[in-house]
Amino acid sequence: MIYLDSNATTAIAPEVLETMLPFFTTRYYNPSSAYSAATGVAQEIRKARKTIADFLGMASPKELIFTSCATESNNHVFAGVTKSIPQRKHIITTTVEHPAVLEVCRDLERFGYDVTWLPVDRYGNLRIKDYVQALRNDTLLVSIMHANNETGVIFPIEQLSRIAKETNPEILFHTDATQSMTKLPIDLSDNFRYVDFLSFSGHKFHAPKGVGGLYIRRGIPCRTFLTGGHQESGRRGGTENVPFIIGMAKAIELAEKTHDEDFARMESLRDKLQNGILQRISYLEINGGGAPRMPNTLNVACHCVEGEGILFQLNESGICASSGSACTSGALEPSHVLTAMNVPFTALHGSVRFSLSRYNIEEEIDQVLDRFPKIVERLRAISSGWDQSKNQPRAQDRI
Ligand code: PLP
Repeated sequence: MIYLDSNATTAIAPEVLETMLPFFTTRYYNPSSAYSAATGVAQEIRKARKTIADFLGMASPKELIFTSCATESNNHVFAGVTKSIPQRKHIITTTVEHPAVLEVCRDLERFGYDVTWLPVDRYGNLRIKDYVQALRNDTLLVSIMHANNETGVIFPIEQLSRIAKETNPEILFHTDATQSMTKLPIDLSDNFRYVDFLSFSGHKFHAPKGVGGLYIRRGIPCRTFLTGGHQESGRRGGTENVPFIIGMAKAIELAEKTHDEDFARMESLRDKLQNGILQRISYLEINGGGAPRMPNTLNVACHCVEGEGILFQLNESGICASSGSACTSGALEPSHVLTAMNVPFTALHGSVRFSLSRYNIEEEIDQVLDRFPKIVERLRAISSGWDQSKNQPRAQDRI
């Protein structure tokens, strides 16, 4: 099987699994217990917290809360700041966020919050002018993702967070770094020094599913989301997921060692895949291709074919990829990200996302380049929008 869906999740690194195992078997103690076997486990959590805090350039490990996933981290930010500062009712976000931000903002709108939804251009970029105009005196929170999960497009968080603070230091800035964590440079004491909150999820970088993190800058008001015990210094109740936290820190250590090498290699494989597809298939859109992009992501839309059909056939030939379409009320809705980017109608439903990890190899890319064009050709042969005699979209559907 060829796995090219690493923006959805990644394989647990063998070293991570090995590091976690004793915490399931011999060292299963609750870190809050008083005996030395348990305090030893609490000590391991402190070490893990420090590893991740140092990796991100935090001023103190106390600025890091362990959560169950990025969805929880994002929800924590919104619930925390709206409870702490109820008088400010304006939020800024983008139309291309992950549902873990998008749906929370929609919900807040139902509860009387005013949300400014920043649009993106054809390439997936934000317009800084729109952003500057959106900032207000009563803005509570800006929440803008670092890298988009569907297209890999990177937003300029350094610039956006600086502008927010220059406009009004009371505006809080959150970034969902779920896709960029370990893949792009993030330093909370340098390029991200104006960021107040940052979310991430372990399973995107070879740690297990079910563990994540949230950075909350020291002194920033943010009430609890999961109220309960005294864990996480009273900021997140619930017994710590010890093995997964330890595993996540190990995954960070591994990423720190091999990051530059991994990404140069992934980028060259991604570029090989992109160029090969462009040479072999006509009428394509490389979504986000004209914007700064993550080195591991390729989102390609083929005019006049259904992405779901492609995925089905890719699956049949042993290739795992994904599309941004969502099944809503029994109908297949095109991706909200591509819709926001104004991707032409004939390509909107034909998108496929290939996303790589450090474990992909060149032979896999060669096999995709062999199989993928044949699949598109077969589907176009039965597509009503495809003119077979001219091998291009039918006149009425032309882009
Ligand atoms: N934010 C982004 C940008 C994501 O890509 C994802 C998952 O794909 C999430 C949040 C949610 O992560 P999780 O499912 O681990 O909560």
